[in-house]
Amino acid sequence: MQLIPAKTIISKKKDSTWFGQDYNMNLYKGCCHGCIYCDSRSDCYQISDFDQVRAKEDAITILQQELRKKMKTGVIGTGAMSDPYNPFEAKYELTRKALNYIDH
Ligand code: SF4
Repeated sequence: MQLIPAKTIISKKKDSTWFGQDYNMNLYKGCCHGCIYCDSRSDCYQISDFDQVRAKEDAITILQQELRKKMKTGVIGTGAMSDPYNPFEAKYELTRKALNYIDH
């Protein structure tokens, strides 16, 4: 799986009324499920090679750094426009590691 550089893992949502989430946590980019109703592949989001899952490089380290900063508490969604439990998660366990860190 390709690793891509990332500056952030958690982003604040502008509007938390949708899905009841205050933050998005994106450890992966893209999705391999190919759901026919998926709007994430729309050109308006400009995600190239959407069907190819890529992982954020040093995702857990970046996440730890972000969570050490002063942040307002809130609900964190586990993925926007990707599946946090894609098939690669079985090997890389980024979602598992992130949730373990957040829980402690
Ligand atoms: S992002 Fe969600 S809806 Fe879109 S292909 Fe992946 S699992 Fe399906």
